[in-house]
Amino acid sequence: MLQRASFRGLRLTEVVCSVAKVNVQIRLLSTTMDKGSNFFFRQLFDPVSSTYTYLLGDTCTKDAVLIDPVLEHAERDATLIKQLGFKLIYAMNTHMHADHITGTGKLKSLIPGSKSVIGRDSGAKADMHLQDGDKLTFGNHTLLATATPGHTNGCFTYICHDQAIAFTGDTLLIRGCGRTDFQEGSSETLYDSVHKRIFTLPDHYTLYPAHDYKGMTATTVAEEKKYNPRLTKSLKEFVHIMDTLNLPYPKMIDKAVPANKVCGLY
Ligand code: FE
Repeated sequence: MLQRASFRGLRLTEVVCSVAKVNVQIRLLSTTMDKGSNFFFRQLFDPVSSTYTYLLGDTCTKDAVLIDPVLEHAERDATLIKQLGFKLIYAMNTHMHADHITGTGKLKSLIPGSKSVIGRDSGAKADMHLQDGDKLTFGNHTLLATATPGHTNGCFTYICHDQAIAFTGDTLLIRGCGRTDFQEGSSETLYDSVHKRIFTLPDHYTLYPAHDYKGMTATTVAEEKKYNPRLTKSLKEFVHIMDTLNLPYPKMIDKAVPANKVCGLY
């Protein structure tokens, strides 16, 4: 009766449209709620190396992962994880870093039961060695390990499709990219990784890099496809840009790389 009364005065097509609109709104609302309700995200920072560390968790199951922890902040990160009641499953690296020492080894001793993770092609020690397409699950969420070599051989981008986000390590930085002039760097390979594996993600995906030096915190696929000053160029132009950067020798590399080969425990 109530339904019939509210539809009175509307033509049949208008009624159908109104019902469809309500359905779409309900669907959108439930999608948003499913997406965000039990997902925890925290971006942490190391001002010395300008490294971002990411804590991701499932607030229902309390399972969590930490991406790119820095040795000097392992205690900070472990305290935060404990305060929030999370259980750390994986302490992960996007690659074998040359500018800081990983905190994954120390976190394992601070939080027993957690496992260190790195790409197989990095040549570094860890509890788990990833290959392209591997999936890491924490609670109801999954990170898809996607090989994006170029900055180093073992570089991975971790994609969380259920949140429309990805952690790009040094493969893609905000309006920039990682260096390709040390370790196993290759400009051609990095260009290929970004164009085939990151720029092919949906435009609205938010990207979180391993570093930023200008105070930026995140970007999107659409932004980088439009504004990245290096990766919007042709491959030839990109290689020329990377070949002529004339950057100084990385000051931490001789200490960081040997330490990171053994999970930061040296
Ligand atoms: Fe790096």
